[in-house]
Amino acid sequence: MKRRDFLRCAGMGLAGIALMPDHLFAAQVGIPNTPAPKGGLHLTFRPYRLDLIHTFTVSKSSRTFTPDVLTFIEYDGVTGYGEASMPPYLGETQESVCNFLSKVDLSQFSDPFRMEEILDYVDGIAPGNPSAKAAIDIALHDLVGKLLGQPWHRIWGLSPEKTPYTSFTIGIDTQEVVRQKVAEASPYKILKVKVGVPHDKATIETIRSMTDRPICVDANEGWNDKNRALEMIEWLARQNCLFVEQPLPKEMVEETAWLRERSPLPIIADEAIQGPEDIAHIYGIYDGINIKLMKSTGLYKAYQMAITAKTLGMKVMIGCMTETSCAISAAAQLSPLADWADLDGNLLISNDCYDGVKVIDGRITLNDKPGIGVSPR
Ligand code: MG
Repeated sequence: MKRRDFLRCAGMGLAGIALMPDHLFAAQVGIPNTPAPKGGLHLTFRPYRLDLIHTFTVSKSSRTFTPDVLTFIEYDGVTGYGEASMPPYLGETQESVCNFLSKVDLSQFSDPFRMEEILDYVDGIAPGNPSAKAAIDIALHDLVGKLLGQPWHRIWGLSPEKTPYTSFTIGIDTQEVVRQKVAEASPYKILKVKVGVPHDKATIETIRSMTDRPICVDANEGWNDKNRALEMIEWLARQNCLFVEQPLPKEMVEETAWLRERSPLPIIADEAIQGPEDIAHIYGIYDGINIKLMKSTGLYKAYQMAITAKTLGMKVMIGCMTETSCAISAAAQLSPLADWADLDGNLLISNDCYDGVKVIDGRITLNDKPGIGVSPR
């Protein structure tokens, strides 16, 4: 696909799409109207642009939209939905994801239940490309769940009443916008505050002037000095803060271990961890991990990560990028395994094209829809 074709596709909005049958949705979002070949799995994809309600600023970047690619895997008249979301700082683009997906030939597989075999093949096509791989993994899970007639939390044997509250993210902003976002966040029981800039304390004080709800903070590697980080964490512990995510750059391994020994709050790894193989490297340095489907290459490895971390006595957090309800609902299937969830990426965009798992009274509320729990909007 040529670059101008992506851009043209990416500009097509999905606004105004009501609940509709799969084939109508496919037509509406530009999926070719060719019948899937008999026997094998059939993958299609298209670029999409997630428009953010507010400019989103973290310690190292700022943006108004997030590039995305929607994926569809069809088998025997059933369609599984998936998605790749590419925040620019992670290095993947619509072009790289579409290039990767164009190399994937799922027609060689006639049994969608052989998920390990299919996902091993996808993983072996090229190194890296985690969100492109996640887009296939999520669509395959959705397809298999639909073929089984069950949602994934039930297939895994998880109790839907054990889902955690989700935090609502407040980016780095002016005090006025922070106040506005705190007001918007009133249905949520936990606020996740992005920090890592010189006015961190002023931001927290502004929030505390409005609410005493628990907060957690994410420095996105923005505190470069272990002593300053410890001083901040000790101060935050007195502000009803639950934990601190990625206080120091991931390369500062010894400093993070030093910090963890002294920290009154749990230290959670985000940038420092991608997949299950990384857990051994950060064990003893961090108290827990933030699992995100776009880092882990999807649900298959995210589930392994959650089980491994829990077995080691580590805390588990399920997080997200800016995503539609598709990837958010997929991640929510795992959330009964998590101590904390940060699954608000769909709430930060104005053009969500899926209807999925909801947040009710601040808590992730799973539904009974088979697969990952979504339908096209
Ligand atoms: Mg983070």
